[in-house]
Amino acid sequence: MRLIDADELQNVMDENIEIHKKLLAGEKNPDEKDFLCSEITLLRCIKEFIDVRKTIDAEPVRYGKWIPFKGETGVEAFGYTEYTVLGFGCSICGADVDVSEEYFKYCPLCGAKMDLEE
Ligand SMILES: [Zn+2]
Repeated sequence: MRLIDADELQNVMDENIEIHKKLLAGEKNPDEKDFLCSEITLLRCIKEFIDVRKTIDAEPVRYGKWIPFKGETGVEAFGYTEYTVLGFGCSICGADVDVSEEYFKYCPLCGAKMDLEE
C-alpha cells in the first residue's frame, strides 16, 4: 500500500481543471473543445471518487536519533575523568533505553524512526 495526500492531489487536479478551462475558452476546433470538456469532466469525476473513499488513520513518520548519555566510571587518569555510555535517549520524546537497545530502529515509546542524520 502507498499512502498519498488526497487533498494535495485534489488541489493539483483543480489546477489542471483551471488550465483546461483556459484552453477551452481559446479553442476554436470543435473536436479539441470536446476533448477538453471530456478531460474536465473526467478530472471532476475522479475528484468526487477520491472524496467518497474511506480514509485511513495514519501519522506522518517522525525521525529521531539516539543521543548517548554518559556517566563517570570513577576512574581518573592524567587529570581526566573516564566516562562510559550508560544509555541512549530518544531525540524526539527523551525516552531512555539501555546501551544494548541503541540499535533499535524505532523508539519503543514514541515510535520515531531512528535514522535521522547528524
Ligand atoms: Zn521517542
